[in-house]
Amino acid sequence: MDKVLQMLLLQQELNDSTNGENWEEGITKNKKPIDWKRCIYMECAEMVDSFAWKHWKNISKEPDWENLQIEVVDVWHFVMSEALRNYSINFRGSIEELALNISEMPGYRKLYKEDPAFAASDEVIDKVEELMFDVLKRNGFVLEGVLEKFFELVLLSGLNISSLYRLYVGKNILNKFRQDHGYKDGSYIKVWNGEEDNIVMKRIWDENGELKPEVLYRELGKVYEEFALS
Ligand code: MG
Ligand code: MG
Repeated sequence: MDKVLQMLLLQQELNDSTNGENWEEGITKNKKPIDWKRCIYMECAEMVDSFAWKHWKNISKEPDWENLQIEVVDVWHFVMSEALRNYSINFRGSIEELALNISEMPGYRKLYKEDPAFAASDEVIDKVEELMFDVLKRNGFVLEGVLEKFFELVLLSGLNISSLYRLYVGKNILNKFRQDHGYKDGSYIKVWNGEEDNIVMKRIWDENGELKPEVLYRELGKVYEEFALS
């Protein structure tokens, strides 16, 4: 419950700051329509691209499992956004209640497995396509069904709740850190002492997997300032 709540709160914050406070109504502060279902199936296509699925090109290339996991995290941003929107506009309850309901879902509970293994490529692709089918149906879209399929996909991709949490929070915090340090106006420095910021973030995060998101943010700030002032 703690981890899923933490991630939902971070996603709400990210959406509020990127799209404006009333993004749940389906339109950004810049008047762009938001379609989370489209975001989900487009990222799903990127998952499929982690495999050598083309019968005419690079036919014996190994799957890119690391990229697959990154795409799973991308999809997770959008699945959470759709869930937050669904709860908000249908008055289904607070973010805390959403987190509680997710934490009781069978698929979510299975994510507490210790060492999930990669599934066979075909099995992963089949599950991705089931998820795409669900979001493309539009009418008859059931949030819980999409969440269950997504959690199955997480496991098939060799992730569990700890690694999903680490990858998601790491990416979310780095995005926020960049935004707060001049990413939009171009003054942000992406290479720190010869290392890219995401490598530094990953190291801090790998060394202390149980850090709170705000502590990870502070640790990034220490390294950044130390090198930016030197
Ligand atoms: Mg709001
Ligand atoms: Mg992606």
